[in-house]
Amino acid sequence: MDNNSVPPDIPINGSAGSSNRNIDNSEPIFHLRSRTAAASTPNYESLDYEVCENTLFQDEQRKRLTERFSLRKDIIRWIIFIQIGIITALIACTIDIIIEELSRRKYTFLYNSVKDNVPLSDASDRDLLIPYLYWLLFSIVPVAFGAAMVTYIEPITAGSGIPQVKSYLNGVKIPRIVRIKTLAVKAIGVITSVVGGLAGGKEGPMIHAGAVVAAGISQGKSTTFVKDFRIFKAFRDDHEKRDFVLGGGAAGVSAAFGAPIGGMLFSLEEAASFWNQNLIWRTLVASIISVFTLNIVLSAYHGLNDFTFTGLFNLGKFDTPLKFDYFELPIFMILGVTGGLLGAAWNSLNTKINKFRKRFIPWKIGKVLEAVVVAMMGVTLACLMIYFINDCRPLGNDPTNNPVQLFCEDNEYNAVAALWFQTPEATVRSLFHDPPGSHKILTLALFTVVYYVLSCATFGLNVSLGVFIPTALVGAAWGRLLAMLTYYVFPQAEFLHPGKYALIGAAANLGGVLRMTISLSVILMETTGVETSFFFPLIIALISAKWVGDYFNEGIYDTQIQVNHVPMLTWEPLPQYKGLKARDILSKPVVCIKLHDSANYIYQMLKKCDHNGFPVVDDVRGDRRSEGRVCGIILRSQLIVILLKSLYVENKRFWLPETSIQTFRDVYPRYPSIKSVRKLDEKINYTVDLSMFMNPSPIRVNPHDSVPRIFQIFRALGLRHLLVINNENRIAGIITRRDFIYK
Ligand code: ATP
Repeated sequence: MDNNSVPPDIPINGSAGSSNRNIDNSEPIFHLRSRTAAASTPNYESLDYEVCENTLFQDEQRKRLTERFSLRKDIIRWIIFIQIGIITALIACTIDIIIEELSRRKYTFLYNSVKDNVPLSDASDRDLLIPYLYWLLFSIVPVAFGAAMVTYIEPITAGSGIPQVKSYLNGVKIPRIVRIKTLAVKAIGVITSVVGGLAGGKEGPMIHAGAVVAAGISQGKSTTFVKDFRIFKAFRDDHEKRDFVLGGGAAGVSAAFGAPIGGMLFSLEEAASFWNQNLIWRTLVASIISVFTLNIVLSAYHGLNDFTFTGLFNLGKFDTPLKFDYFELPIFMILGVTGGLLGAAWNSLNTKINKFRKRFIPWKIGKVLEAVVVAMMGVTLACLMIYFINDCRPLGNDPTNNPVQLFCEDNEYNAVAALWFQTPEATVRSLFHDPPGSHKILTLALFTVVYYVLSCATFGLNVSLGVFIPTALVGAAWGRLLAMLTYYVFPQAEFLHPGKYALIGAAANLGGVLRMTISLSVILMETTGVETSFFFPLIIALISAKWVGDYFNEGIYDTQIQVNHVPMLTWEPLPQYKGLKARDILSKPVVCIKLHDSANYIYQMLKKCDHNGFPVVDDVRGDRRSEGRVCGIILRSQLIVILLKSLYVENKRFWLPETSIQTFRDVYPRYPSIKSVRKLDEKINYTVDLSMFMNPSPIRVNPHDSVPRIFQIFRALGLRHLLVINNENRIAGIITRRDFIYK
């Protein structure tokens, strides 16, 4: 066979490589299942977290092997983290202020409309129709606008964004996740959804916003606006970008809650897949800078000159220290268990609703209409509650800016309307801080049920919204309710402070849905200003909720990742892998390239198969590249750049002097596809020498190595390809993240 032509054993579109897995009849059942699963899995690619230390990279390192250069790079890295903190906070402030202003106007208008249309306390004159219609209008218009933007302009912005950022940090390339357009749609999406009154919050989208800011700033260029600022060039690779994205995520949470330590811990606990001491430091600095900037801007906005805007305690500061007795600890645990059960049920119900959506609402217009219907459902349920529940409280301790009199006597306000006539975040605040006796038991019981169902139906709509606030809200409502019920039965139980139990309920519900413990307890402490001694009750509730919830299913973010078939690597190898060897999961035959190969072979091979990494081999017997001796690995993106820039041996003298690692970095991150390479008619006999481009030290394992062991290596080093070689250093197979994922 002609050495330049593509041998027939090359898998077409990468199919043969994966299907030729080394499976015999005795293979475990899950292997057989897995192949069907893999076939239906969307083709997510991986990020290149492993630094390719090829000759060009080493040349650059040698040239810059001075202490001054390393110091400079380090200082620039710090500067970028600080910039990320500042810009993320500015975006958060803008979103915050717009939400606050628009919501204030909306609820003031509704308040006035209620006042004008329902002036009497006379029960026979109850008519909420006009305010209801206005309320519908103020919900439908922003929600429809936000949902349309998400659906038609940038669907990746749907939801909270945390599962996507988490997948990205785990090493999965989620298309368009860190683009400027995504940020713009996400910001507008979250504003419209919160103002529209959907059961959601802004914290998840803030993490996503922080991640986009970080990915943008750290690269010193904008691919969307085709603008290269020619700065930060040394940071243009997936490895560096990942660390910045983590910092951005942390800055985003910190800005959303005004909680710097909680923000950093949230990123570490929920999002990060890799971390080290330096990264923790930098992430913390980005978070602190973010909160500091937020404080300055919001203080200035609210006309304060001492930079102490108390609104940073987003969930309202507890003025008196929250105390607890040791006999309350079992009660906190029971609340935790309740949170775990309710959270697990919420996750499973939400997953079912989302599967139903995926199946029966495939059309774009259907997705927008669905968001509108859920918004209408929320308004209607709220109005029905307001209409039918007669919960009047004396004015004075008004928990809202708009205490509506509605059907109450003079000097009274309607406690049901107070719960609904504000943003969900403000309602959490009310439930934490309203004085005892602010609601009827029936009001809270119904509110809990309605909000539980509403938040379940909302998460998964094609709108940008986070799940943190509605989950905390439901928990705060039932926590307060349980305290009231117990007090009703045992009126002598003075320790049953409703605010305290609302806080524990919120923690328990959050633990049950999100399954985070450390960061959530710190965020709750930072956003409510409770003393460190109260950390213990919070963590008891959170851990009990997590353990109970974990017994039934996974946290909501992990569930979403699974449902979308994102090939996420877990922290530990799956139990099914115990006892397996590398030879049981590897793919073969492997598509390889010779160290000196023909340009035409490379071109044809790239067109025929869609793998992203190819072992580079020499000592090839005949034309059987897949049995050659391994000397390195090369990525598809590198091969395309080589072909595009004509880096052939035959004209080496033209390109060699100016070719450097920068030649490859310049096209990062949007590498061209093989379609952009012109047909190589006149260069058909040209040769490519891969020795300076390939990664000469890929991680290799033996076919007899245990899978749990190689999983640890794969995950710890953030690998994309793992070569399996035999004792003669000849290629025996290849393993990628897909080979570790069988669900
Ligand atoms: P990624 O998608 O993670 O960016 P990739 O595209 O190179 O990397 P996958 O799509 O994960 O690889 O691989 C799908 C299947 O093909 C896996 O089972 C993997 O082992 C196999 N495979 C990957 N590269 C090769 C190759 N060069 N030759 C043969 N099989 C391969």
